[in-house]
Amino acid sequence: LRGVDRLRNPWMNKGSTFTEEERDKYGLRGLLPPRVCSFDEQVERLTDIIGSYKAPINKYQVLEGVHASDESLYFELLVRNIDEYLPIVYTPTVGEACQKFSHIFRYARGLYVSAEDKGRVRQLVANVPHQDVDIIVVTDGQRILGLGDLGVNGMGIPIGKLALYTACAGVNPQKALPVCIDVGTNNEELLADPLYMGLRQHRVTGPAYDELIAEFVAAVRERWPHVVIQFEDFHNSHAYDLLDYWKDRIPCFNDDIQGTASVVVTGMFSAMRALKQKLSDQRILFLGAGSAATGIAHLIADAMVEEGDTREEALARIRLFDSKGLVTKKREAAISSAKMPFAGEDEPAVSLLEAVKEVKPTAIIGVSAQGGAFTEEVLREMAKLNDRPIIFALSNPTSKAECTAEEAYRYTDGRCLFACGSPFKPVEINSKTFVPRQGNNHYVFPGIGLGCIFTKCTRIPNEVFLVGAKTLADLVSEADLERGSLYPPLTEVRSIAAEIGAAVAEYLFDKGLATVERPADLKKAVRDFMWNPKNPHFIAE
Ligand code: NAP
Ligand code: MN
Repeated sequence: LRGVDRLRNPWMNKGSTFTEEERDKYGLRGLLPPRVCSFDEQVERLTDIIGSYKAPINKYQVLEGVHASDESLYFELLVRNIDEYLPIVYTPTVGEACQKFSHIFRYARGLYVSAEDKGRVRQLVANVPHQDVDIIVVTDGQRILGLGDLGVNGMGIPIGKLALYTACAGVNPQKALPVCIDVGTNNEELLADPLYMGLRQHRVTGPAYDELIAEFVAAVRERWPHVVIQFEDFHNSHAYDLLDYWKDRIPCFNDDIQGTASVVVTGMFSAMRALKQKLSDQRILFLGAGSAATGIAHLIADAMVEEGDTREEALARIRLFDSKGLVTKKREAAISSAKMPFAGEDEPAVSLLEAVKEVKPTAIIGVSAQGGAFTEEVLREMAKLNDRPIIFALSNPTSKAECTAEEAYRYTDGRCLFACGSPFKPVEINSKTFVPRQGNNHYVFPGIGLGCIFTKCTRIPNEVFLVGAKTLADLVSEADLERGSLYPPLTEVRSIAAEIGAAVAEYLFDKGLATVERPADLKKAVRDFMWNPKNPHFIAE
């Protein structure tokens, strides 16, 4: 590409950093201010601009502008300031960006497949400028974070997730494609919004929905046979069915179900290290019995089985508490099939405190979206039952957290092992400072995706998420544990992703699920494979 075409192509543009030779070679002389700037100067300029805005959504908009004009610069900004910018390009600001998507839309990015495209999806896929695609993150916008049905506005999520894939795991941005399947929305506010950019109709469901998804999967796999597909923020009514159907047919996973389970199991592994105990020593009570709870519970059971338990023994150590109380065979309220494996013979309990007294758990895990449900009484009872109780308050956003970090540490006299869904500041109790860290998927999915991409795997078995959890747990240092942190610092995401990527790749090679040759030094090969904004090696050249 030459001249202005080069300046307007985010994969080829280097803006003010084009060298004298490049300015001659690409016909850029006169099209840029004369002084050749350094990459550092460029980064500094943008950091200043972003810093001059107060509202996170404005920072998001500036960053998306850079994303659209110069991808190397955009990713260098993210890599250098991951702590500060991750909450902007990802949760929570990306949520606001989705809500306002149709009002702040400026730059086209990714692929939109609407219900009206049925029968011609292959043509749409042919229009995608990426020569090769390694990974797709796809949503249908029906359950965006905790914000509900946002229709086509949900596209902000695949875009944000893939930004993390590149920033954290070095996935080549030219091989990463965000996709939104627009089958309409049941959000009346959006349907009434004159600027709403999606189909103005209620959601298509049933066979027509499944057929559109199948046509989409077939079309992208025809063009990019090894592409990994990550399902993201689908409503419960589709998420499990899609995963069940596709997991044995293509390399795919659902981050909300599997990534969440992985990161929570990591937290449990860290807690086991701090306690010098085994998972099979635990009794775990979940507050909430929905998709997050059952997904996590099954992966914990898998981990117990690996430790030598039978499945029955493992399941017997896990109990659920839903909106009707403790899930036990002795209660009157019905028990759905998803909850049944965890129903025991306990006495019924309608309050969480009663349930804690009945089950005598060593760990309580909150995934109920019931803010404040871990009351002082519940926390004190946990502290009475256990020397070091495990307390995970995972519901998001902050207002939904079952308890705050402060409450957890205070009511257990600083003895608990704590993890949270939303960020909490360090807490000082009895002149000791605790640093709570988030049980959030962003620690795991980039590395898992990297391992799958690297191996061009044929399937993604659920065990991969246990491999991810173990690898991440090994990266938690003694110093982290000492401070009460069950996860490593976010600033280490790139090396975390490299480690998880290599471990996942190793597993896939061992299981015969990889289709590329196994390198002699796998860790090094995975690291070398990671795209780096300073040395971007774009393909289209
Ligand atoms: P979900 O499938 O709708 O499940 C919610 C569960 O909470 C249901 O089992 C429901 O009981 C139960 N519940 C509702 N009110 C209750 C009450 N008063 N007492 C006890 N249980 C009650 O939702 P989900 O996808 O599992 O997500 C739940 C929460 O977990 C959300 O806040 C989400 O933000 C959080 N989450 C966090 C992460 C993370 O990475 N930190 C990941 C995923 C989810 P019934 O079954 O009786 O209706
Ligand atoms: Mn999600």
